[in-house]
Amino acid sequence: MRLTRFTDLALRAVMRLAVNEQGGPLATRDVAEMMSVPYTHMAKAITRLQHLGVVEARRGRGGGLELTGLGRRVSVGWLVRELEGEGEVVTCEGEQPCPLHGACRLRRALRDAQEAFYSSLEPLTVADLVAPPTGPVLVGLVGRSS
Ligand code: SF4
Repeated sequence: MRLTRFTDLALRAVMRLAVNEQGGPLATRDVAEMMSVPYTHMAKAITRLQHLGVVEARRGRGGGLELTGLGRRVSVGWLVRELEGEGEVVTCEGEQPCPLHGACRLRRALRDAQEAFYSSLEPLTVADLVAPPTGPVLVGLVGRSS
């Protein structure tokens, strides 16, 4: 199974924010630069994370992006499901539907495999993702205001 780039960018942002406890405030542009992705792409991912209640933006002096309480506790499996949406790993319908789409054992097997993929991520939290060696690398990334 392959994640969308959007989901990957959002997870990168969450991981960087998770290690920013002692760092200065981070703007979306900082996170984009640290993660080597275009600002507009990262901005869309951050907006989605805000809608999910995982990230909040504090305004004013000293403001910036930070993880919410939910963002710190959230299961990676839940987050990936939300970011990926309801889509299946294969497109069976559409303009030219596959003739098997109403009675396909492969489709059932792929759905089960997709569910197993998400379930395997359920026990993980964001804190697990930023344990060494990942966390120290994240802390060392440099952004615009660094
Ligand atoms: S063979 Fe099955 S899984 Fe593949 S496109 Fe057709 S219905 Fe979907």
